[in-house]
Amino acid sequence: MSAALDRSKILVQKFGGTSVGDAERIKRVAARIKSYYENGYLLVVVVSAMGHTTDELIKLASQISDNPPKREMDMLLSTGEQVSVAMLAMALHEIGVPAVSFNAQQIKIHTDARYSNARIEKIETDRLEKELAAGRICIVAGFQGIDEHQNITTLGRGGSDTSAVALAAALHAKECEIFTDVDGVYTADPNKVQGTRKHERISYDEMLELASLGAGVLHSRSVEFAKKYGVVIHVRSSFNFNTGTLVVPEEQIMEKLLVSGVTLKSDDARVSLNDIPDRPGIAAEVFHALAAQNINVDIIVQSTGKDNKNTISFTIPHKDLKQAREILELLLKNWGTGSASFDENIAIVSAVGVGMKSHSGVAASMFKSLADAGINIEMISTSEIKISCVIAKDRGREALQIVHDVFGLTQTA
Ligand code: ADP
Ligand code: ASP
Ligand code: MG
Repeated sequence: MSAALDRSKILVQKFGGTSVGDAERIKRVAARIKSYYENGYLLVVVVSAMGHTTDELIKLASQISDNPPKREMDMLLSTGEQVSVAMLAMALHEIGVPAVSFNAQQIKIHTDARYSNARIEKIETDRLEKELAAGRICIVAGFQGIDEHQNITTLGRGGSDTSAVALAAALHAKECEIFTDVDGVYTADPNKVQGTRKHERISYDEMLELASLGAGVLHSRSVEFAKKYGVVIHVRSSFNFNTGTLVVPEEQIMEKLLVSGVTLKSDDARVSLNDIPDRPGIAAEVFHALAAQNINVDIIVQSTGKDNKNTISFTIPHKDLKQAREILELLLKNWGTGSASFDENIAIVSAVGVGMKSHSGVAASMFKSLADAGINIEMISTSEIKISCVIAKDRGREALQIVHDVFGLTQTA
């Protein structure tokens, strides 16, 4: 790193799709960035694609193919962010602020080769440091990377958060500000639940669970990075100047809430393997075959075997259903017994809180509240700090509010 660069002044900021949704908003973001610049910050700014660009690009591809090559899909999707970095750099130039835009290839954001769900492995910082030392703002395309053969990869939907936090870690920036369309991290999605409350602080572990269980406000891998490298994330609104939510180590949280948040995930499906052989190695075979195709399995339930037969049920992302079906049908054929069934009409409602570690009865309260509303629990999964229930998809929103209410999170006006 150049000797002249004062790391304590490096700030990484990320602006999401809504925040840069049109030219007017980009100009507003530029004005905000200018005020930080004038206060002496060395800025690296990550942006997402404008508005719903990524969705539109996905739709565009579907007009050509139901199953486009993954490499080409990433090539296509990465273009959204390339538009927004250039637009923001132009907006900064317009108001007299030196800024230079970059894509992942130019910076060298190295990832593995898993198209559409790549992991960042290393970020080179030389160019960024040179530009910062020269007094320029670096505008970096979020959501994208390059693999070892220079193919363009993308990090999964919502992945610009991860680009920003990984850059903050690589540059040893003290903080990463995530500017979005809500004021911070709430006890549940404020656009889906009544009476939600904003957290002033939340621990990495709780945020990681919330993000993995469907709280779309942060990409879960961004939280993994933050925890690993000690980056403080500040989630805040790009439309006002209110302090948002700090994502920090657990020791920095005074009040350990029993439940700090509830989530709903509606993009999973359930797979059941019925009457399969009950012998060592079967489960390993199933999950090994799925893992080999990068299919993430979430909740797993296996029944007690009977008559040398067993049932295993598990949840996987909707988008992987077709591929999973092919893999499992092959296994069933090899075993010569059993059948597979698939259910897309499920949702997963979860409660998360570090306070659960030291309190019993949390699961019972959640189950009772759902039962009282006549909502059937189809599968259950727990960890030290979370409880998840699989329920019918059409009861999802209702269940989310019920669980938020039962843990006393709902604020009455
Ligand atoms: P961006 O485009 O800025 O990345 P996202 O749409 O990815 O924005 O994330 C912000 C959205 O996350 C909010 O509009 C909100 O609906 C949703 N969200 C889900 N869970 C939560 C939560 N617990 N707290 C705040 N927002 C949440
Ligand atoms: N543009 C990408 C998406 O829509 C990445 C992001 O917004 O974080 O998923
Ligand atoms: Mg997002």
